[in-house]
Amino acid sequence: MPTKNFQELKATGALPSPPGVGLEILRLTNKFDCSIEELAAAIQIDPVLTSRLLQVANTSAVRGSQPCATIQAAAMRLGLRSVRAIGLGFSLVSGHRAGRCSGFNYDAFWSQSLARAVASAEIATRCKIGEAAELFVAGLLSDIGTLALATVHPTDFAEILTRPEASDPSLRASLEQKRFGIDHAEAGVSMLQEWALPEAIVQAISTVDLVAAPGTQHGATMSLPAAVWIAARFATALTNPTRRPIALAEARRALENLPSIAKETLPELWITIAKSWRSWGAVLDIVTTEVPPFEEARTPTTGAESATKELVAEVAITKPQGARILIVDDDPTTVRLLLSLLQREGHAVVTATGAKEALRLAFENMPQILICDRNMPEMDGVTLIRNLRQFEAGRRVYAILLTADDTEEQAVSGLDAGADDYLVKPFRPKLLMARLRAAMRVIHLQERVDEARVTMQGQVADLGVLARNLQHAAITDTLTGLPNRRFAMDHLREEWQRAFTARSPLSLLILDVDRFKRVNDTFGHAAGDAVLTLIAKVLQTSVASQGTACRIGGEEFVVILPGTDAQRARMIAEALRAVIANTPVRGPNFECMVTASFGVATANASIRSFEQLMGLADQGLYIAKNSGRNQVRGTQEDASRRPAAKPAS
Ligand code: GH3
Ligand code: MG
Ligand code: MG
Repeated sequence: MPTKNFQELKATGALPSPPGVGLEILRLTNKFDCSIEELAAAIQIDPVLTSRLLQVANTSAVRGSQPCATIQAAAMRLGLRSVRAIGLGFSLVSGHRAGRCSGFNYDAFWSQSLARAVASAEIATRCKIGEAAELFVAGLLSDIGTLALATVHPTDFAEILTRPEASDPSLRASLEQKRFGIDHAEAGVSMLQEWALPEAIVQAISTVDLVAAPGTQHGATMSLPAAVWIAARFATALTNPTRRPIALAEARRALENLPSIAKETLPELWITIAKSWRSWGAVLDIVTTEVPPFEEARTPTTGAESATKELVAEVAITKPQGARILIVDDDPTTVRLLLSLLQREGHAVVTATGAKEALRLAFENMPQILICDRNMPEMDGVTLIRNLRQFEAGRRVYAILLTADDTEEQAVSGLDAGADDYLVKPFRPKLLMARLRAAMRVIHLQERVDEARVTMQGQVADLGVLARNLQHAAITDTLTGLPNRRFAMDHLREEWQRAFTARSPLSLLILDVDRFKRVNDTFGHAAGDAVLTLIAKVLQTSVASQGTACRIGGEEFVVILPGTDAQRARMIAEALRAVIANTPVRGPNFECMVTASFGVATANASIRSFEQLMGLADQGLYIAKNSGRNQVRGTQEDASRRPAAKPAS
């Protein structure tokens, strides 16, 4: 079940999700009766995805078997589940190569995720566990929750990344919990569950940050979680030279207990994983670096450059001026003419002489404007535009159709098919430029809308954080950090209901510090505060597993004890009383001893409401105070202690 805080993350609408074909694949394969043909038809719309999928199918093929040439063949070889997972994984990469979180290195993130992917697949293949392709995806998505937090909370997450603890995933997780109410591991697990990925994958990614490899006790066999865990250490070694020796030692230690991979083969495994990482990096356009041989990698390097620096240095980002334009025309003369005209104006232009090539280029270059001939042999311009419009990226392209005849029907059918404008050939350059300027105005407006949407998503996310902070503040006592009176009342009401429904016991302690005014008067207010803080700590640590302690007034506390009967409640109160009475409170210039009086009450059939239960505990406290303080009293117990009344004869 996704947690409430995950729903909150999701409600921002900013969570990473697979764009275009990825979503379609998800939709199709969630259908009970999805056929391989349907899936293949969806995938083939994206030529880049198609070629990458074929590459996976052929890489994981048994040696000597025929290479797959079609998606159908690949789906038969890999299975629907794997094809779905790969499609999803790859479309996520292509959709989230960059983002707004300034402290987050997106290239390094994907580089590390890819390293986890190839290492998981390699280990799985060697140990014959699971499907290699599925393990590849498990590795690739094993840190997707981190990307999610960077995407939904760019500013707050960037701040977390500046903390020294952030380099350790489990320490970072507690910072994330505090700030967002959810951490990257929990977010990742919830996302993969939403996408209905196999439970084994979800399980594997939930244990990847553990300090020790899961399921690697002596004599165990390799499991999916263990494979992904070890793969993550290889990935750290590949992407972070300074942590390389430690990460490799961790991987080695985990492998030592598993008979499936011999220790001696480690150097070879390391090089195979590194090679696979490099070649997949080239396929998916993900940054990778040179990797030293195993023995060299194991020895600590001094003054090694941080991986982030290396990775960043390798990425040269060039921002073209003007618009990104894609020209498609089967007539080379028109293409040349347009190319020279548009380049002269400072636009970044790519050209194609056929629709299929154009589709591929459209996915690779994400053009802002498409100028496309209507009549082309392999696929006409109208069909090309219609195909493009099926994708998020393609929907945003401003498409100008070039037509040879200037009839009304031609114009209408072109615009109806999804073109934004049309031009009649032979066109006049001046008119073309004016049309392009109009296109740019539309594109800029669209970009402004996008920016506003992104800002809004950020604000929604910030509001979520703010709301949680406010909510927390509203129910927390600032001095002691304990829940306050408001929380105590709500919580008691809930527990009262639960105890009533489940017919389980419920007890309540109220305690009040004895002669507290004197502490303030003798040692000062700061000493008084120190006493309250200490008592809060005693209560919290002693009853943590059995109930909830709250501060309900100046020096008055309540402890709500669900599932606790009268006898046990009295024992707990007695123990707390003794600890408080025997613990000195020390400060810079004072030392004092304090005691507290306790009232106890336990729910029973004659008590009608939780307020009445509170009243009874209060009466107990009153008796304790009047009987000399530093003691535990309860009206119910005291009554039962009295000799039983003689039955009426
Ligand atoms: P008793 O044993 O009858 O409970 O005596 P008492 O002195 O504890 O009770 P009383 O209600 O007369 O005094 C409570 C004092 O607690 C008065 C108030 O100044 C002090 N107090 C309340 N809240 C705080 C606080 O947050 N910090 C400090 N230092 N003192 C507080
Ligand atoms: Mg008091
Ligand atoms: Mg009092």
